[in-house]
Amino acid sequence: MTQFSNFGLAEPIARALAEKGYTDPTPIQVQAIPPALEGKDLCGIAQTGTGKTAAFALPILNRFHNEPKHRLKYCTRSLVLAPTRELASQIAKSFEDYAKFMRVSVTTVFGGVPIPRQERAMSHGVDVVVATPGRLLDLVERGSLDLRHVEVLVLDEADQMLDLGFIHDLKRIVGLLPRQRQTLFFSATMPKAIEDLAARYLKDPVKVAVKPAATTAERVEQAVIHVNQAEKPALLQVVLKEIEAAGTLDRALVFSRTKHGADRIVRQLGLAGIVAEAIHGNKSQPQRERSLKAFRDGTCRVLVATDIAARGIDVSGVSHVINYELPNVAEQYVHRIGRTARAGRTGQAIAFCADDERAYLRDIEKLIRLKVTVLGLPADFRAAVANTQRIERNAPPMPREEERERRGGGGRPGPNPHAQVRPARAGGRPPAAGGRPSGGAGRVAGRPGGAGGGRPPGGGNRAGANAGARRGR
Ligand code: AMP
Repeated sequence: MTQFSNFGLAEPIARALAEKGYTDPTPIQVQAIPPALEGKDLCGIAQTGTGKTAAFALPILNRFHNEPKHRLKYCTRSLVLAPTRELASQIAKSFEDYAKFMRVSVTTVFGGVPIPRQERAMSHGVDVVVATPGRLLDLVERGSLDLRHVEVLVLDEADQMLDLGFIHDLKRIVGLLPRQRQTLFFSATMPKAIEDLAARYLKDPVKVAVKPAATTAERVEQAVIHVNQAEKPALLQVVLKEIEAAGTLDRALVFSRTKHGADRIVRQLGLAGIVAEAIHGNKSQPQRERSLKAFRDGTCRVLVATDIAARGIDVSGVSHVINYELPNVAEQYVHRIGRTARAGRTGQAIAFCADDERAYLRDIEKLIRLKVTVLGLPADFRAAVANTQRIERNAPPMPREEERERRGGGGRPGPNPHAQVRPARAGGRPPAAGGRPSGGAGRVAGRPGGAGGGRPPGGGNRAGANAGARRGR
């Protein structure tokens, strides 16, 4: 069996890995590290959670160790492009961990933080820039970053970059890089468009794959519950409480198709006494970081996310993925459920399927080549529906910003990728994790309907989070 010592990594890197407790390389690392260390281009099919970050980070750091160079002002030796801020932050953190015993500077570049700070970081030159494409180009255009000395380019989650419409930015960026470079290309899936992109940017690449594109993580136990859209809030509460009562809830990631839907779910859970946080493109960077931290450290065990925001979130111990709405692109389902059952653990994925989502379910089952087990509605579901409706009637009206987004306002056109990864410029942001009851100390509390009291009566809040589903993720 291959061990890290077989790779001949520089001593400070090996020490950092030992300190992190990595004993054996993961399959993608076994396949990718040796050719990457030789300077070859790489085309890797691997999802987040497989250890792919180390697969590209370790060879880059090894290069820095073996070929030390003075930093050039406003230049970087390696550029990692990622589709979301979360993933970029996470990659940068991994680099820092693995380079703990080296003198390597790592900078993240993404929207949502003041640009002067990133410009200052560039002024001395850096070794690793981890960036989302839009802000990177902003920096280049402002003359604060020169890409002519990049030795290694990493494209991470290339399929997601394409989905997010980053293709033009990507092409522009690659056009600014030296032709003579090493390119490491990673994607969770390899549709034709991604294959074409790889063919264009890679020279004689070594192809590595840890899992065929469409296979679902085997360790995830999957189930679906058929339910009316309007009754999903009650179902979510009952399901979370059941999992909690069964003692299997570690962390639950709930997927909503829209930002507004995510906020509404958090609000409804709050009204039912369940502590939850939302993470999506309308949240500011500090808000996202706070929510992620709470989820990571267990003070909040239910995180409601949109697909975009959830990409790259690396939180171990996600015991449950709940697809509150089914994704309309089947591959997205695979990405979602891949958030659980990581690092050898088991996990459970539960989908809520309304009548108008049955076609999505069929697509998913075709893709994963599996019939998802159908579960019946829980025993106390009807009572929960009645209770939820009563609480909803007495709840304060939805905050204005949520209303605006629901109606399609907020100044952000739907498919604009920047709007999805950058903070809201116009239209402000929804309040953080609205409607949370006090107490609860991060547990999925068993207090059905207890949090509605004391609130001023207001106009009801319509259940059924599907409105405007495709607009603002
Ligand atoms: P990634 O797919 O790069 O996001 O990595 C997923 C998780 O696996 C991260 O938490 C890594 O720290 C962890 N990891 C990566 N490589 C190894 C390894 N060889 N042994 C144990 N954990 C690892």
